[in-house]
Amino acid sequence: MNTGNPDATATEQISDIEDKVTAIREVFASGYSKEYAWRVEQLKQLELLIHEKQNLLLEALAADLGKCKTEAWISELGFVLSDIKHTLKHLKKWMKPRKTSTPVGAQPGKSYVLPEPLGTVLIIGAWNYPFQLVLAPLVAAIAAGNCAVLKPSELASQMSKLLAELIPEYLDTNAFAVVEGAVDETTELLAQRFDHIFYTGGEAVGRIVMSAAAKHLTPVTLELGGKSPCIVDNTANIDVTAARIVWSKWMNAGQTCVAPDYILVDKSVADQLLVAIEKKIQAFYGESAETSEDYGKIINQRHFQRLGSYLENQNVVFGGGQNVQTGYFEPTLVLNPSLDSELMQQEIFGPILPIITLDSINQAIPFVNQRSKPLALYVYTNNDDYAQKVLHQTSAGNVCVNDGFMFMTNPNLPFGGVGNSGMGSYHGRSGFDRLSHLKTVMERSFKFDVSLRYPPFSKLKLSMLKRIL
Ligand code: NAD
Repeated sequence: MNTGNPDATATEQISDIEDKVTAIREVFASGYSKEYAWRVEQLKQLELLIHEKQNLLLEALAADLGKCKTEAWISELGFVLSDIKHTLKHLKKWMKPRKTSTPVGAQPGKSYVLPEPLGTVLIIGAWNYPFQLVLAPLVAAIAAGNCAVLKPSELASQMSKLLAELIPEYLDTNAFAVVEGAVDETTELLAQRFDHIFYTGGEAVGRIVMSAAAKHLTPVTLELGGKSPCIVDNTANIDVTAARIVWSKWMNAGQTCVAPDYILVDKSVADQLLVAIEKKIQAFYGESAETSEDYGKIINQRHFQRLGSYLENQNVVFGGGQNVQTGYFEPTLVLNPSLDSELMQQEIFGPILPIITLDSINQAIPFVNQRSKPLALYVYTNNDDYAQKVLHQTSAGNVCVNDGFMFMTNPNLPFGGVGNSGMGSYHGRSGFDRLSHLKTVMERSFKFDVSLRYPPFSKLKLSMLKRIL
């Protein structure tokens, strides 16, 4: 019963969590989520949810993050719809046993990998793409035949509330639940036994998730962030480079895990790039992005203050305007910040783009390698040798040559981090595999029970075995 006291409601939900998770685990144990038909039905229901409730979803995204319809469609609703479409098209094939050859010593026999669901998955989402980051892992969980508990980010409160309403309306309530809330609720969820935890968010909470998971030896996928570099050499097409940088940086007002965090540019083209970026910002968002319907807002005051503090004592060469009331933070360029400043020490995760000029582009690879492995790395160049050098001499979760995060549009590409930017990947079949156990199976026949491997052993047996193995 809701007493009208928000604390009472929260406490009530926390005390419900254990029972909720236990009930869902029992449903998984009953086995029906393994059926292909059930998986397809749930995926189609998700599709229906998006089609029928798109206006409500778009309104929630506008309220939480000021997302315009086109951007919200491309990066959230449409993204999940195409993931579902791709999954429905290939699911039967993904579920099939994956045959492999069998060595002579195990003949006659058959060998294959049989994907099986893991069980009940906890999906913890982040606020910046509050629909996609909960629903895309859910698509993978359903495809793999799992049940799931969803914990949307409390920071995107409108979307969290909406998902808590819509998921039970469309999906099988025995197999899926949404738990709303913040630290207390997540802590209680993390105390439960799950078969996988799929977490998207920052590194600090990633550590909390991983240590909670260790208690039950639960495997985790951590989709984290970090500072994603963007290298521009002097052979790049500067106009196209600028357009693609501006598109990928200021979508969602820079609050994108794979947005370019900073630019490393050869000094011979630095001025040209700076001017081109300024022009593209104005071309995309008008003279003042504040009045643009296509430009988003900062999620909350805490993040707003954090971003504002990054600009202290910096050389702001473009932008810097802010309106704390509306959450507007202008697209901002900072030239050659101190590498010790917070701006260059923390993930920016907002609309500020530092541009660092290098005497030689050869300094870019060591610059990247001296820092944590990023979630994404971008290199703009017309020099194939240089692109290959960057690819082979750096490490990053995902790389795009000559564009922003276009790899996100290809469901055949696994998406995930490496090192401090995360572990495990998803989207398309990689998500299905991530939330499946790829069970090894060997089927043998009773025929030809060759005694070579059985004791008592002899020199002859050993020499024959050496030849076979
Ligand atoms: P957030 O504040 O929404 O937190 C993420 C989740 O963790 C939320 O559901 C929240 O309730 C939970 N949480 C927060 N504090 C907790 C605690 N103490 N104990 C347990 N759970 C807790 O998101 P955030 O951390 O601000 O997200 C931003 C980060 O996420 C950035 O680093 C960004 O790069 C990264 N990110 C990564 C991806 C990706 O796909 N790799 C996508 C989006 C964001």
